[in-house]
Amino acid sequence: MPEQPELTIQGWGPAPAGTTEPTGDPLAGTLTKAARRHLVRELGWTPRATPPVPVEEIRLAPSRLPEEAHAALVELLGAENVRTDRESRLLRAGGKSYLDLLRRREGDASDAPCAVVLPGTTEETAALLALCSELGIVVVPFGGGTSVVGGLAGVDPDDRPAVAVDLGRMASVQALDVPSSMVTVGPGMRGPALEQALGREGLTFGHLPQSWEFATVGGYAATRSAGQASTGVGRFDELVAGLTLATPSGVLELGHPPATAAGPDLLGLALGSEGTLGVITEVKLRVRPKPAVAVYEGWSFRTWPAGLAALQNLARHDLLPDVVRLSDADETRANLLMAGGAGAKALRGSLKARGHGEGCLLLVGWEGLPDLVRARKRAASSLLRDGGAVRLGRRVAESWRAHRFGAPYTRDKLMDGGLLVETLETAATWSALPTVYDAARRALQASLSRDGHQPLVMSHVSHGYATGASLYLTVLADRDDALPIQQWLTAKRAATDALLAAGGTLTHHHAVGADHRPWLEREIGPLGVEVLRAVKQKLDPEGICNPGVLLPD
Ligand SMILES: Cc1cc2nc3c(=O)[nH]c(=O)nc-3n(C[C@H](O)[C@H](O)[C@H](O)COP(=O)(O)OP(=O)(O)OC[C@H]3O[C@@H](n4cnc5c(N)ncnc54)[C@H](O)[C@@H]3O)c2cc1C
Repeated sequence: MPEQPELTIQGWGPAPAGTTEPTGDPLAGTLTKAARRHLVRELGWTPRATPPVPVEEIRLAPSRLPEEAHAALVELLGAENVRTDRESRLLRAGGKSYLDLLRRREGDASDAPCAVVLPGTTEETAALLALCSELGIVVVPFGGGTSVVGGLAGVDPDDRPAVAVDLGRMASVQALDVPSSMVTVGPGMRGPALEQALGREGLTFGHLPQSWEFATVGGYAATRSAGQASTGVGRFDELVAGLTLATPSGVLELGHPPATAAGPDLLGLALGSEGTLGVITEVKLRVRPKPAVAVYEGWSFRTWPAGLAALQNLARHDLLPDVVRLSDADETRANLLMAGGAGAKALRGSLKARGHGEGCLLLVGWEGLPDLVRARKRAASSLLRDGGAVRLGRRVAESWRAHRFGAPYTRDKLMDGGLLVETLETAATWSALPTVYDAARRALQASLSRDGHQPLVMSHVSHGYATGASLYLTVLADRDDALPIQQWLTAKRAATDALLAAGGTLTHHHAVGADHRPWLEREIGPLGVEVLRAVKQKLDPEGICNPGVLLPD
């Protein structure tokens, strides 16, 4: 079993060894000098130390769990699996969005659960849900705690006490059916542990979101996450062959591999249900042989529209590589500045010499059997060249692969230095994508402008489909130290309104949570919301399952 990183309360985690320097400067070792100068100039940012309050000073209200409820939970699960100590509660307070981290850094843990409970089996989980239903206790399933949309906010309109249902005791491989390429996994299992278990059999599940050090299989299913192998093993929901959902009304076994036509697909109701219908207690996943070869390389386009057109062309010919990641000019420039060093300098020089300025960087990767990889790569490369792309070689792509899980650690550091750092994402058809891109950027720039300075809005496309692609935006701005939460809420509202109006989806992979639910009706219509409410009423008649997320008030 690989060593699992520990959850932390006010950030993603301690920076990996070797990246901190004892200079007293929160950004030492995080930003190159050039990147720092760029941010100061562009954002009007004054680098300053804005450290979190000490953990001991985080305000935590006393648990509101009634004594008789505590006793009943202990009787069901055992005393060691019902925790009300300060640390357990703080560690399950909310998720890891910029707003979550701001609150915890300011010492606010008002969204902490009254207790943390750890069921060990499906039967125990079902009994727990029935008990909580009877006692009027809200349950919030907790996987890795990496939600970025307020999925763990634990808000209840009736203000009932809430418990976090931590799935950490159900975190192992339960069955591996090699001939059927299928593994059955406990919901609390994290990606690295699962990959290691499968790797021993020469298999992989290949789902690699940036949060993979902490996020769990149950969380992936509950949010319909998307990994970095954009077209290869992109969407987690496409890997799920079946699952078990424990609800207050009973247990549902969903999905019938390999395929069935027995009515509408109820599995689809559980995928993306974000804990509102019950707790996912088991997941059956499709697995595949570990790729024999993996080839990654970088390309450059002169402009963003040229890059989009080339990806669209690849999609039309069914030639999208397993990984595609096209950065716009702002993201490309920022990445090169952040990377620094001789390699980045040489790359900038070579792009300029070819008339690409800094261009728009495209990273592509192919994985699988050597002959297939070779053939797909050759065909795709020819279309990329036709689209005006210049091949940069492997180094830039290998560097991205090596550092791709580092951004959340960098975010902690940037927050320490007085910056607003957040991301948002959407998807749109190929025809709508350029308009969605412009609309979201303009809304963020307008709402986060301060004293004549605009935020840095960096975008990339990371998941391609025949019909369109996802769009991921990262925002950096000088933080408003007086009203930081309001500052981001205003920007997020403006960007969400704008991208929906332009034809984007509310979310391509982060899910709805508490943050997006005011807009859900715009995406699925009033009747769609009523259908979801009716299903919830049947499975969770007392409305105890994560009531603050997904469904609008
Ligand atoms: C730095 C960072 C990078 C990220 N990168 C990506 C990315 O690349 N791709 C992506 O898709 N997302 C990404 N995310 C978002 C997040 O990691 C995903 O949504 C992930 O799937 C959540 O998994 P989790 O186990 O942490 O779930 P949690 O955060 O614990 O829970 C998420 C939601 O699912 C519910 N839930 C969790 N487990 C269960 C269960 N067993 N049964 C029922 N409901 C459950 C919770 O109640 C909550 O509403 C990122 C987040 C961060 C902070």
